[in-house]
Amino acid sequence: MHRNPQKISRERMVREQIAARGIRDAAVLRAMSTVPRHLFVEEALVSQAYGDYPLPIGYGQTISQPYVVALMSELLEAQKGMRILEIGTGSGYQAAVLDAMGLDVYTVERLRELYFKASSLFMRLRLLSIRMKLDDGTLGWPEAGPYDRIIVTAGGPEVPEPLLEQLADPGILVIPVGAERTSQRLVQVCKQGGKVTMDTRNSVAFVDLVGKHGWL
Ligand code: SAH
Repeated sequence: MHRNPQKISRERMVREQIAARGIRDAAVLRAMSTVPRHLFVEEALVSQAYGDYPLPIGYGQTISQPYVVALMSELLEAQKGMRILEIGTGSGYQAAVLDAMGLDVYTVERLRELYFKASSLFMRLRLLSIRMKLDDGTLGWPEAGPYDRIIVTAGGPEVPEPLLEQLADPGILVIPVGAERTSQRLVQVCKQGGKVTMDTRNSVAFVDLVGKHGWL
């Protein structure tokens, strides 16, 4: 029988890096077993695509470690059909995972080159329902809101106020926040009945969220 080596690496990644570390959300595990992560990294790095680390994607940016993608996706506590806003499209991998989870994805990237690269990859993979915008995502995407879920995949000094405003009630927002650059804690923000609560989770190291409500 023909064995697809990328599929084998992907299933191993999900088993050893994700399920073994306690991720239980079936939709997350399923999505990460199907999205071809090796197509979201630079050609020279394809053999490392399923490794247990982040990888450079050019322009000083990175595609997150698989476990961090899984953890943030699980912290969203999302259900199929929900509308989600992602800030920081980057390679497009996280957006593709959210799409594979059955979510209605809106994603914003501030760097033109990465925006166009992700856009052509989505075309190639026929991920035509992912909506994209080239802009400062700390301002959100108000015209398409409110969003049931918001995920920020770059680290900022605080939770951007426009994103809190564009979060539906009930709604959940997940973001890496840190007073210093390069080191943050994942924060799960829940809005319910007009009240906002914040739960601080794992330590992470994301690239900078750059913008009006991020690092300047
Ligand atoms: N989710 C991405 C992670 C990319 S790294 C992936 O799966 O590959 C974070 C990305 O956030 C970078 O591409 C960076 O350019 C982008 N970014 C930083 N600040 C931003 C902002 N204010 N608005 C939109 N994108 C931003």
